[in-house]
Amino acid sequence: METLFTKIINREIPAKIIYEDDQILAFHDIAPKAPIHFLVIPKKPIRTLNDLTEEDKPLAGHLLFTAQRLARELGCEDGFRIVMNCNELGGQTVYHIHMHVLGQRQMHWPPG
Ligand code: AMP
Repeated sequence: METLFTKIINREIPAKIIYEDDQILAFHDIAPKAPIHFLVIPKKPIRTLNDLTEEDKPLAGHLLFTAQRLARELGCEDGFRIVMNCNELGGQTVYHIHMHVLGQRQMHWPPG
């Protein structure tokens, strides 16, 4: 089933896009939980982290490396947090995997 992130990829709904290539898209979260809060998603519609397969290993690495690079470019070189929520118990609301990248404020542990 198509999620709203597929609609963002297809430009059917607007988003503040930061980066795009043939495999991934990064855009600012619509309800930021930190001064910097953006999402990095694969264009391939993978529902949850549990649905990642061996063949997705290079894609997962590309997501992580791009998140790190964009965090640095957006002024989070002193520290940031990456979060991936998996399924309802993990707090996932959009069933198309995404990395949250949060920065420019002090993070606390444990998260809620
Ligand atoms: P999660 O709860 O981990 O599934 O995260 C979903 C995230 O998507 C939330 O942080 C939402 O604020 C964000 N979100 C929902 N709709 C949009 C949208 N149209 N544009 C950007 N971010 C969105």
